Amino acid sequence: MAIASLKAEADFQCTDCGGVFESEPRRLHFHHVPGQGPKLFNVSAGGSRGYGKQRIRAEAAKCVLLCDSCHCRRTMAGETVAVAA
Ligand SMILES: [Zn+2]
Repeated sequence: MAIASLKAEADFQCTDCGGVFESEPRRLHFHHVPGQGPKLFNVSAGGSRGYGKQRIRAEAAKCVLLCDSCHCRRTMAGETVAVAA
């Protein structure tokens, strides 16, 4: 599955705290970084929508991989990117 393999490629590691979540990959989220290009869809939704790996990979390239607490911290700090219309 594309999402799982993208997390594996990142060694299941959170970009911010460096924590490794190999045993709990669901706690890792692809967080869109402002300025990295238009957000076309949530990376996690791309898998369930049946998007191809290349399409998901291109979207994930605009993101950092974050654990849920670091994701929450960035989101609460206002770092959010809306899906482009
Ligand atoms: Zn973290």
